[in-house]
Amino acid sequence: MTPDTPSDEAIEARYAQLDREAEEGGYHLNPDREFTRNLVRGLLVNEQRYGYPSCPCRASLGKRDEDRDIICPCDYRDPDLDEYDACYCALYVSGAVLSGEVAIRSIPERRPPRSERKKQGALQQAAGSIQQLAYPVWRCRVCGYLCARESPPHICPVCKATKDRFERFL
Ligand code: SF4
Repeated sequence: MTPDTPSDEAIEARYAQLDREAEEGGYHLNPDREFTRNLVRGLLVNEQRYGYPSCPCRASLGKRDEDRDIICPCDYRDPDLDEYDACYCALYVSGAVLSGEVAIRSIPERRPPRSERKKQGALQQAAGSIQQLAYPVWRCRVCGYLCARESPPHICPVCKATKDRFERFL
């Protein structure tokens, strides 16, 4: 076994951890067990190689600063779940996929090219102290959980209230 080949035990342990955390947060792992195990294996391999579990479906640069947006769960998971019912790798799926109501489709890459990411990073740094909101802030009417993103989450990660229980806060 090479250092890059995680053991079955390590895969099972991480699988169980991810599954528990996903369900606690209102997310779901892909119910196709073998498929999901392979992705978990990829995450562990990347963790050994780079020191962080970068996305198993994308090429990592091996520099945390440049790969931060694709450390799993990546910055693009929630928008892809909202739009395509699965993340780019289909490790995470929506409740509709889990229940068999919808099938997983092909998902286009949402991550901007490297040159664009660098530009965005520079702009964010330059904007640094300017007090303006990049995203609307949503408030869970049930428990008061706040989040800044394009739209409210499907399920509140704290109290599990559904999307329609959120209101625009800012
Ligand atoms: S696409 Fe899915 S598996 Fe890949 S980093 Fe994002 S959340 Fe993780």
